[in-house]
Amino acid sequence: MKAVCWHGAHDVRVETVPDPKILNPRDAILKITSTTICGSDLHIYDGYIPSMKPGDIIGHEFMGEVVDVGHEVKQLRRGDRVVASSIVGCGQCFYCQQQKWSLCDNSNPNGWMQEPLFGFGTAAIFGYSHLFGGLAGSQAEYIRVPFADLGSIKVPDHLPDEQLLPISDAFPTGYMGADLCDIQPGDTVAVWGCGPVGLFTIRSAYLLGAERVIAIDRVPERLQLAREKGGAETINYEEMDAGEALKEMTGGRGPDACVDAVGLEAHGMGLEGFYDKAKQAVRLETDRPHVLRQMIVACRKGGTVVVMGVYSGFVDKMPMGAAFNKGLTLKMGQMHGQKYMPRLLEHVLNGDIDPSFVFTHTLPLDDTKHAYEIFKHKQDRCVKVLLKP
Ligand SMILES: [Zn+2]
Ligand SMILES: [Zn+2]
Repeated sequence: MKAVCWHGAHDVRVETVPDPKILNPRDAILKITSTTICGSDLHIYDGYIPSMKPGDIIGHEFMGEVVDVGHEVKQLRRGDRVVASSIVGCGQCFYCQQQKWSLCDNSNPNGWMQEPLFGFGTAAIFGYSHLFGGLAGSQAEYIRVPFADLGSIKVPDHLPDEQLLPISDAFPTGYMGADLCDIQPGDTVAVWGCGPVGLFTIRSAYLLGAERVIAIDRVPERLQLAREKGGAETINYEEMDAGEALKEMTGGRGPDACVDAVGLEAHGMGLEGFYDKAKQAVRLETDRPHVLRQMIVACRKGGTVVVMGVYSGFVDKMPMGAAFNKGLTLKMGQMHGQKYMPRLLEHVLNGDIDPSFVFTHTLPLDDTKHAYEIFKHKQDRCVKVLLKP
């Protein structure tokens, strides 16, 4: 089959590789009908995620048709159309039982590799390095899905792929970001980053009852989407100080909750931004936590700060004194896809949201290299690319 293989920073190639096979009785094989590039794939593309090996197949947001199932798969049959969660969970461990699917104890055979860094191993993620299980990714014609009954949700035929695909990863990530804000009537939520996850956080915050959402970015077309499709008020942080603007827009109190939909490669401004880039370049700091610092200072006292953008290692100059003295609640994590997918599908079927608004481009899998470039550099007004194997 054809698949997108990683060969180092900024080097992805479409290659011919062996087709996946059923390895365990609870596996299914999907023929992928649509996949995409997630913002967190850019961290792999840019070489910031450790334990990648040349030839690894990348990608984790996907949907397709079931073409084969192991003998213990009960819910799925050949020919079913499904969307699959980017996170793999076993359904039986302490964490899966509590719907904390991204913390699964059993899905990541390389969990031991995470222990020196994280203390404990976390769930496997498709196409996301050996640290996260070494599973082949979805930017390919076929994929093996472990624990397929749990990680896949059947979808009806009458909706096109672009309305359903985001239920695999970007939509539940954004939705969990809003869910962790514990939104109360009248709340204002501030969202840093208006890429697909940020846009879904905005829409989800309204679905969960926020009164106002304020979005922060610097790319005009993303801010425009946040206003027109998200219903958010927007701040371009290159034109004004985001912290000051938020204070002014909230009558001097600050937002009730703040969500980081940017992660470890934030574009810092000024001296602090330079400091992070310099430290990251010499590997003294793995992540650039500009957004995190700004959220902690901008959030109202007693508010909630949520991190959904990916961090992988260590950060410097965390304003811990501000977080502590303001009594903030910090929440974060990889999303729990299996918990959220059924309710998100229901929102789509009810017409509450049409997730296809995030896609600006459709390209064949053969053009994946070009897709990474326009997505990374936000060229050609690219917000999200639908890739067709
Ligand atoms: Zn993702
Ligand atoms: Zn589990």
